[in-house]
Amino acid sequence: MRTLPTTLAWVAEGTALCRKAIADLDETSYRTPSLLPGWTRAHVVAHVAANARALRNLMHWARTGEPTPMYSSPEQRLADIESGAQLPAAWLVAWFEESAQLLTYAMSELTEEQWQAEVLTAQGRTVPAGEVPWMRTREVMVHAVDLDTGVQFADLPEEFLTELRHDIGGKRGHDTGPTVQGSDADITAYLAGRPYTGVTTPDGLPAKPLRPWL
Ligand code: ZN
Repeated sequence: MRTLPTTLAWVAEGTALCRKAIADLDETSYRTPSLLPGWTRAHVVAHVAANARALRNLMHWARTGEPTPMYSSPEQRLADIESGAQLPAAWLVAWFEESAQLLTYAMSELTEEQWQAEVLTAQGRTVPAGEVPWMRTREVMVHAVDLDTGVQFADLPEEFLTELRHDIGGKRGHDTGPTVQGSDADITAYLAGRPYTGVTTPDGLPAKPLRPWL
C-alpha cells in the first residue's frame, strides 16, 4: 500500500533519476529517438516538464477550490510537447528543473484536508489530490527509462514496481494479456508496453508486446 510520504519520496527519487538521465545529453543526443514511438528524448523531457506544470494546476485546484484543469485541451497538450521538443538543450534542462521545483513547492503547501480535495485528471478521472504524487511518480520513473540513457526498470525501487504492476493491471482491465513469467522488473516493463527480455507465457513462449501505456 502506497502512502503520501512514500509517493512524495518517490517523486524526488524519480526526478533525480531523470536529472541523471539527461545530465550528459548534448544537442544531438536530444534529437535521438527515445523508447517511445515517434518521440525524441527532447519530446520526453518536454512532456515531463509540461506534466509538472499540469499537475501543479491540480495542486492549485486542491488548495484554492478553483477548478484548474491539467491541460486546456488534448490538442494544446500535444502542441506544447511538439514546440517544447524544439527548444535548445540548455532550455530543456532549465524547464525540467524549474517545473519540477515548482511542483515540489506546490505539493509542500497542501494541508492534510486539501490533500483530500477532489480534482480531475486529464483522462477525466475524479481523484483526491493525494493521488497526484503517485501520478507524478509514474511519469518521472517510467520516463527516466524511456530516455534510453541507461536507466532500466531494474534500477527502479522494488515497491514502486509492485505498485505500478497493480496500477497498470487495474487500468488495462482485460488487456493485460496472459499470465506471464519473468523477473519483476521485466514483467513491469512488459505490462507498461516497454522493451523487456525473458518474459514468457505459461507454455514457455515469448510474451507478445502490449501497446505502450502512459
Ligand atoms: Zn507521460
